[in-house]
Amino acid sequence: MIKVLKGTKDILPQEVDGWHLLEKNALDIFIRYGYKEIRTPIIEVTELFSRGVGDTTDIVNKEMYTFEKSDRSITLRPENTAGVVRSFIENGMARQSAPVKLWYKGPMFRYERPQAGRQRQFHQVGVEMFGIKEPTADAEAILLAVNYLKSLGLNDLEVEINSLGCPKCREEYKKRIKEVLKPEFDNLCEDCQTRYEKNPLRLLDCKVETCQNIFSKSEIQEVIKSDFLCEECAEHYKNLKKYLEKLNIKYVENKLLVRGLDYYNRTVFEIKSNNLGSQNAVCGGGRYDSLVKQLGGEDTPAIGWAMGMERLYSLMQTVEPEKLDGYIVSNSSAEAFMLAEELRNQGLTVEFDLQSKKFTKQLEKASKVADYAIILGEDEIKAGKVSVKNLSTSEQTTIDRCDVKKIIRS
Ligand code: ATP
Ligand code: MG
Repeated sequence: MIKVLKGTKDILPQEVDGWHLLEKNALDIFIRYGYKEIRTPIIEVTELFSRGVGDTTDIVNKEMYTFEKSDRSITLRPENTAGVVRSFIENGMARQSAPVKLWYKGPMFRYERPQAGRQRQFHQVGVEMFGIKEPTADAEAILLAVNYLKSLGLNDLEVEINSLGCPKCREEYKKRIKEVLKPEFDNLCEDCQTRYEKNPLRLLDCKVETCQNIFSKSEIQEVIKSDFLCEECAEHYKNLKKYLEKLNIKYVENKLLVRGLDYYNRTVFEIKSNNLGSQNAVCGGGRYDSLVKQLGGEDTPAIGWAMGMERLYSLMQTVEPEKLDGYIVSNSSAEAFMLAEELRNQGLTVEFDLQSKKFTKQLEKASKVADYAIILGEDEIKAGKVSVKNLSTSEQTTIDRCDVKKIIRS
């Protein structure tokens, strides 16, 4: 038997109503904040990710699905910010008046160890906002994430924020971190030893216990917690917090929050759920003011976030599958067939028995799958009428065929 690939999953018909809700609420809510959907390809040239996501990240180093085709190196997208930025540049969107607000949804691919909350093909819904450097944009992006989560009934969530400063003030911080960790270098995990040289801030993100123990030492904590933001970055961060407070968004400041990707500056944030076990982040995002330029565009500030849709789905209340509006019960398949078509053309969801089963069997089926039984017995056929039975109240009335929709949708 051929089985689904490890780390991938079918989204089955009994789950798809929940997925539709995730997608519908995104469509309904993002539009209110001025976002337009963008659909970029799932494959991109590999260089987009090595330059865009950063070649010191786990994503680029270990997790990409890359293959050669006609001498080009191609990669299945592991995330979509790089793809959206590529499209923003390529299609001259910088010429539009700011902000340019784009959202997306779709599959992402990362060759990770599959476990609860972690797949190799998973889905993200995300937003990107271009052209605004002010902290209002950061606050609005976080607000949008919170409101989307609320619309799905998810309230038990924690917003964590941090500021990574700008390349200038961060340089000094990196130096301090390296200095205080120098005596511990040999005790760091192999990944952290590489990060120490290439991207010391990423050390703080390490999940390895021995590294975490090292970072919890008081002299190291002191450096981690020290203020390093320059005046402008501190002002930006202060104003963001002011807006969040005004908007009643509770947040926790987490100095260890550095995010896995290289492109962030200033604001970074994550939204976590207490009901998810160890993979507890549903949303991650931040500001990436240098990425557009780095990928060949004009200098354009930007901010965005992405949410893991499988994790959202697992937190949502189960969505009851939609029932049919009506199930036609009749001893005449031909008459039932014609009536079903008539009602479907009016926009109702209708099925009938394709196998000429017994009348009582058809009624049983109707009560399982539909809100109404639409009964087409011999008397009804002769009189050009139908009987409509409400299957939750058992109320039944005989009406003209043309009035079925009125009754069912009343
Ligand atoms: P994590 O720390 O959980 O690995 P990340 O920093 O790699 O997250 P991002 O790249 O920021 O994740 O992606 C945003 C969101 O996408 C995450 O918060 C999570 O909900 C989801 N996500 C990321 N990787 C996976 C995966 N392999 N399987 C399922 N969902 C994922
Ligand atoms: Mg990850």
